[in-house]
Amino acid sequence: MERHIVHCDLDTFFVSVERLINSDLMGKPVLIGGNGDRGVVASCSYEARKYGVHSAMPMKLALRMCPEAVVVRGDHDLYSKYSGTVTEIIEEITPIVEKASIDEHYLDITGMDKFFGCWKWTQELRGKIIKETGLPISFGLSVNKTVSKIATGEAKPCGEKQVVGGMEKMFLAPLSIRKIPMVGEKSYLTLRNMGISQIETLQQMEVFTMRRVLGENGVSIWNKANGVDHSAVVPFREQKSMSKENTFLADTINMDILRKTLVAMVDELAYDLRHQQKLTGCITLKIRYSNFDTHTQQLAIPYTNSDRMITEKILELFKKLYTRRMLIRLIGVKFSKLIHGSYQVDLFNDTLEEIRLMQAIDKIRNRYGVELIKKGICLLDKKGGADDAQPA
Ligand SMILES: [Mg+2]
Repeated sequence: MERHIVHCDLDTFFVSVERLINSDLMGKPVLIGGNGDRGVVASCSYEARKYGVHSAMPMKLALRMCPEAVVVRGDHDLYSKYSGTVTEIIEEITPIVEKASIDEHYLDITGMDKFFGCWKWTQELRGKIIKETGLPISFGLSVNKTVSKIATGEAKPCGEKQVVGGMEKMFLAPLSIRKIPMVGEKSYLTLRNMGISQIETLQQMEVFTMRRVLGENGVSIWNKANGVDHSAVVPFREQKSMSKENTFLADTINMDILRKTLVAMVDELAYDLRHQQKLTGCITLKIRYSNFDTHTQQLAIPYTNSDRMITEKILELFKKLYTRRMLIRLIGVKFSKLIHGSYQVDLFNDTLEEIRLMQAIDKIRNRYGVELIKKGICLLDKKGGADDAQPA
């Protein structure tokens, strides 16, 4: 059966939210990010992009390229709130929804065509989101995730595009290979060096050539270039959470040990998040007392993968939950509501140096293992038990 998959993506999401609050920003080049000397651009408006500004660029450089730009410091809570509202509107009427990032969703609306036309349904949903939130959003509709995502890109800004079943290859043919979601900088350069710039050229190649040059990744790229993608739309509730628990060698009431253990667990889990290019929107703390009474509490947080931000929140949660002054046998931390996302959402408070430091530490961990580098606070004597933390 032919599937009907929608991809939607809010246009310059952070900028659009800021414009809802301050209409003076309309039509102007806007940069979102740390406005300090060493801040970084987290998002920018189309007006700013015309000057060559892009996200992840040092703010100082962006302002040199576009001196009249208005700089707005980002607001995590606000963006997460609007993101949640958009998700709610979509989930209300859509059978299967995958929240792919803070401003992107995939919808499987297969079967809806029996009742409404899928294209009409998609247009109506888009109209509803714009009307209810005031945020511009673009949609792509096709038979799979890849083609729909690329269609959204072609529809931007604030547009919609349908690729009718059977027309995938023809739609993709004239586009740049850059438009294929999996083609990163390295694959792009490899293909460019082979003289390939259009998807059409990939379509004409033999799959084994792609395998020889780029391995299994090349086969995936080749399939996508040919409009083939069987991957499913995975709803929120089926996406895995990640957690760690630590049972102490001896039950403890020592706040120092408890705090350090929590910090160490968050540190490792946040590293895993970044490694998988994910963000969490919900954290859970679990405490088991020596009498086996178990208490958990969860907290919705702005999407993040920053140790610093999550540690702050988990310690707040600990303060709230641990009121009984009883001996603790086990503590655990869980991250859920995982979505795709990279460092860029966390740039408002971080300076370029901080981000580079975090990336450098992660790189060393990638190579030598997570155990090698730990924050000073996590280094406990063995008795404390922090080093015994096991994945749950
Ligand atoms: Mg977007």
